[in-house]
Amino acid sequence: MDKKVTKIGVLTSGGDAPGMNAAVRAVVRTGIYYGMEVFGIMRGYSGMIENDIVPMHSRSVANIIQRGGTILKTARCKEFFGYEGRKKAHANLKKLGINGLVIVGGDGSFRGAHQFSEEFDIPCIGLPGTIDKDISGTDFTIGFDTAVNTAVEAIDKIRDTADAHDRLFIIEVMGRDAGYIALHSGIATGAEHILIPERKTDIEELIDSLTEKEKRKKLVNMVVVAEGDNFGGADEVAKVVKQRLPNVDTRVCVLGHIQRGGAPSCLDRVIASRMGYSAVECLLEGRYDVMVGILNNKMHFTPLEKAVKAKQKISDEWMKIVKILAS
Ligand code: ADP
Repeated sequence: MDKKVTKIGVLTSGGDAPGMNAAVRAVVRTGIYYGMEVFGIMRGYSGMIENDIVPMHSRSVANIIQRGGTILKTARCKEFFGYEGRKKAHANLKKLGINGLVIVGGDGSFRGAHQFSEEFDIPCIGLPGTIDKDISGTDFTIGFDTAVNTAVEAIDKIRDTADAHDRLFIIEVMGRDAGYIALHSGIATGAEHILIPERKTDIEELIDSLTEKEKRKKLVNMVVVAEGDNFGGADEVAKVVKQRLPNVDTRVCVLGHIQRGGAPSCLDRVIASRMGYSAVECLLEGRYDVMVGILNNKMHFTPLEKAVKAKQKISDEWMKIVKILAS
């Protein structure tokens, strides 16, 4: 790529994640520092198609680093899946002279970015903004740390009431396809069992283990379930547990969307700032179509095409830790 990138657009796309604002702020301020014009594209790819694109200044991103959500809003955009939609989006960028994009989102957003950049020769830099953490090529994704800490805070509170009443709690956390929030929050709160989409749920093993705990009068138990666990989430697991262990006082708590909101943690603000800064540097250096990650505390660049294919895996060692520590 020898075209100089002078006008850039930044957008947040797909599922929202705390820290997206910090990333937008970093992109805007770094772009301005390097003499670029920076535009904010509203509601993900929808704003590109509907020409909802606004000039950004240093002050446009004042006082947002600590705010959850995203000032640019986010959306899932059906039209962008089709070539006609992407063509409209390109025409709008062209009118404004935008010749580089930074997309903060998950793997779906990266798939869209890759397709778009292949078709229209616009360099796209992806920043991993997802609470699910299931993107490879980076140790961190923007939003995970905040989301998992929100889950931990909530589960700690549930443990207090579980302990007061000698109850078994089955707690559902977010993660339709990925078990990282369940795994990390479960370990951090001392959960007895953690059920995740990456492993087939063995309900008999769970029942046997809870039966054994009941026998030795271990009455406070916490089971953390990712919403995408293959048994069907906390409600389905609880149905079987209540049926098979009628003497155990079992309750369900679904944490839901609280995990997406709130002020981003320090870690999320810092990684979002580093990644946002690095995204602009990538555009300046002529990098094309990469995801910016952080691996071993260094910036790491993964081709978008590869980033959308390789999911981060959960090793068996993690599951062993859960088992040993919960006994
Ligand atoms: P996330 O980025 O959080 O994984 P989605 O999977 O919903 O969220 O993707 C966000 C948006 O990215 C979609 O609504 C769509 O506009 C765009 N997108 C996703 N996959 C593709 C694709 N294969 N081609 C074009 N656009 C896509």
